[in-house]
Amino acid sequence: MVDLLRNQPEKAFGTRSDQSRWGRFFELAQSVLEGHRISPAEARQILFTEESELPELVAAAHKIRWHFFRDTVQLNVLINAKSGLCGEDCAYCSQSRVSTAAIARYELVDEEVLLAGAGLACERRAQTYCIVLSGLRPARRDLENLARVIPKIRARFPLRICVSTGLLGLAEAKILKEAGVCRVNHNLNTSRRFYPQICSTHRYEERLATLEAVRQAGLELCSGGIIGMGEEPEDIVDFALTLAQFQPEAVPINFLIPIPGTPLGHRSLLCPRFCLKVLCLFRFAIPACELRIAAGRELHLRSLQPVGLWIANSIFVGDYLTTKGQPPEDDFRMIEDLGLEPEFDVVAGARSAGLSGET
Ligand code: SF4
Repeated sequence: MVDLLRNQPEKAFGTRSDQSRWGRFFELAQSVLEGHRISPAEARQILFTEESELPELVAAAHKIRWHFFRDTVQLNVLINAKSGLCGEDCAYCSQSRVSTAAIARYELVDEEVLLAGAGLACERRAQTYCIVLSGLRPARRDLENLARVIPKIRARFPLRICVSTGLLGLAEAKILKEAGVCRVNHNLNTSRRFYPQICSTHRYEERLATLEAVRQAGLELCSGGIIGMGEEPEDIVDFALTLAQFQPEAVPINFLIPIPGTPLGHRSLLCPRFCLKVLCLFRFAIPACELRIAAGRELHLRSLQPVGLWIANSIFVGDYLTTKGQPPEDDFRMIEDLGLEPEFDVVAGARSAGLSGET
């Protein structure tokens, strides 16, 4: 396995010669829990962990996960509330103007469909209902419709609402905040260096500005990205450390689903152990975040999905935007086998016991 740090002057957090094999990742985890922000050198060391040391790395990442989340797992349900019809050229996306993928294309769904999706989210014991609209930025009428429907969803269902509506300015973010949106998703997707290779119709800076606007509006931030688009490992390091500057409340890590008809439809699958290292990197970089194994977990992690949940603490249950997820029953079985408990149940249990809980 390549070690980028070998023969480089920048020193990582330890070497085999000065620390025991089973100590250095735990020491790093402890320092992260005490407020240390990992350096680029430490990020590289995590991403290039030797295969024989992966169990230790996972265990150390689990130490951080356990500190913040114990045995809970956050479940999320997605609704593709507006599909296709997008003028952008994001290479990974089946809804782009350059995609020939056979997907449904429709404008913002009606109120009844949004409410039905919220009901399904509750049935699936989700804590967060993620409403996703295609397009570079929200149309004014879509924003107004969301602002009208979201209070109705919140009045009926004990769900956190997260919306993904593309680029936002401060005024638009404030409209969502006043409507009762808790969290806004806007993914950075990859590094600044690599971004022009996956999209030519908007700039990385616009994405960063949206993250700023979400924060300024007082909203929680959900921001992650996609691994496996042809980026270099150094891009993953840059991406993780850029995202760490924002310390998002939620970080969805997608592993590219190569959808036929998209420019990245030919990409090959990732090694599942590499996917675990990527998850560990984000756990160390943004320790307190709800780290979500998002789209592509079934395809790339395969039989190692449960190990992923020792690092991450969140998944989507059900389908993704235009691709299928595994049956929810399989997710529930995995969660039960791991001894984890959906956060929705924990909060509901606290409520029924008369304890204070998030509303
Ligand atoms: S990711 Fe969003 S902006 Fe990019 S093509 Fe897909 S729908 Fe459009």
